[in-house]
Amino acid sequence: MTTIKYKCVQNRICDGCTTGCEPLTIGRIVIYRSPHTPDNAPGEEGVIWSVNDHYVFVRYGTSVTSQATPVDRLTFVYSGDHDD
Ligand SMILES: [Zn+2]
Repeated sequence: MTTIKYKCVQNRICDGCTTGCEPLTIGRIVIYRSPHTPDNAPGEEGVIWSVNDHYVFVRYGTSVTSQATPVDRLTFVYSGDHDD
């Protein structure tokens, strides 16, 4: 059983406290950027594997293990539609 966590508008992990908190859905594609990487840089693409109260665990590239990543370093990849 999985409880959905959210990327809060306050750049932390929350339970969806307000409008605008983005669901950290398992399998969702995210981009990691280090603190020194500009927002318009390509970043590193990964897939959300699991989430706890403190970190998002992301599998990057062809890695078979997930890495604990602070949520404020992650941005979402949006497909063209909003069906999900
Ligand atoms: Zn929130």
